[in-house]
Amino acid sequence: MLSFIAKINSQAQSCSCGHHHAQITLDGTIASGAIRLVPGYIGAKGLNTVCVVADRNTDQAAGEELRHLLQKANFQVQQCLLPENKHGDVVADECAVVQLLLSVTNETELLLAVGSGTIHDIVRFVCAKTGKPFLSIPTAASVDGFTSAGAPLMINQVKQTVKAISPLAIFADLDILEQSPRDMTAAGFGDMLGKWTSLADWRFSKAMANEPFCPLAFRLTEESLLMCIQHVDEIASGSKEGLRILMEALIKSGLSMLLVGHSRPASGGEHHLSHMWEMEHLRAGRPQRLHGAKVGVAAVIISSLYRTLAHIERREPFSDYLKLPEPTQLARWLKTVGGPSTPEELGIERKNMVQTLKAAPDLRPRMTGLRYIRDHHPRLLAEVVQDMTTQPQIEVNHGCVAVKKEKEQGGL
Ligand SMILES: [Zn+2]
Ligand SMILES: [Zn+2]
Repeated sequence: MLSFIAKINSQAQSCSCGHHHAQITLDGTIASGAIRLVPGYIGAKGLNTVCVVADRNTDQAAGEELRHLLQKANFQVQQCLLPENKHGDVVADECAVVQLLLSVTNETELLLAVGSGTIHDIVRFVCAKTGKPFLSIPTAASVDGFTSAGAPLMINQVKQTVKAISPLAIFADLDILEQSPRDMTAAGFGDMLGKWTSLADWRFSKAMANEPFCPLAFRLTEESLLMCIQHVDEIASGSKEGLRILMEALIKSGLSMLLVGHSRPASGGEHHLSHMWEMEHLRAGRPQRLHGAKVGVAAVIISSLYRTLAHIERREPFSDYLKLPEPTQLARWLKTVGGPSTPEELGIERKNMVQTLKAAPDLRPRMTGLRYIRDHHPRLLAEVVQDMTTQPQIEVNHGCVAVKKEKEQGGL
């Protein structure tokens, strides 16, 4: 079992927040060569027939080796290679779910999700429906959803989170993560950076709407976020230690959601905005950008909105939003790890931004600063979006941070 799970479980027992905190039973490890422990783990569970689920890229990164290791250890190995759409994306939608259902047989005893967040979401949903367990084999430190029990699925082109199951164990192999593309690590960092605004929204939702809150899950997510900030250069370097820190933070963020049974610790206004962009991209038939890349950019915009809201309202609980980092600082961190920091870099036009911001709170029945702004200060949305287009642009070159005026650069 991961070393930090026992500590979380013992703290959860004495938590007086009123939530039911189920014992977390996640096994596994974050280490070099972790993938080689998988056959022994499955054997100890007394299982024999397993289905390795991957896409073309993640099969190359880890699926192939995993199948080889399992076959060598005499397991019955089935395979499901999830197809990509015309843009090369695997989407967690009806089509992918059916594809996997067709590959799973009565004999299948265990599924192995080999890949990033999308493959995990498809597997966890199918496992929940078929009553089969699964293992998580991340091929990139790109998202905090590996251990989650909810599957964000695209149903009829609308993103909704469906109840599913979490994995029995996670085997995060640092040798594999080290080989992953830099933009995937940057996306994992972006997903963590979004915790600034999600945590601020969580406290806000408790104060304004008495929504459920747990100090333990809050602290767990906050500590994970701060670990990433403290080690941003290490993460940016793509070293094994940087990836270990990021992966541990992503897992802990996922566990904080498991602890409380909802996603408030890890998902606020920034996630709602990023989900809107994802749906817009799909409807327009454009290629997808990584979840965490969108979350990071959304966090920059949302923090700008929230800090402005705090200056207008000048009272509790709004002043809490002033603890958020400046948007320029968030952008700087994103650039340090090699991730996008502006909507333009994601192929998102600002002309639709206000409409998107207005619609985003309707994705979840939840109080957020964004909902409050939409309902009480709607004009602020246009003002802040306009303001951001004339903000100085941050550039990071070889670790040196320089601020360049947008005009000097001939526009964004
Ligand atoms: Zn996320
Ligand atoms: Zn609690």
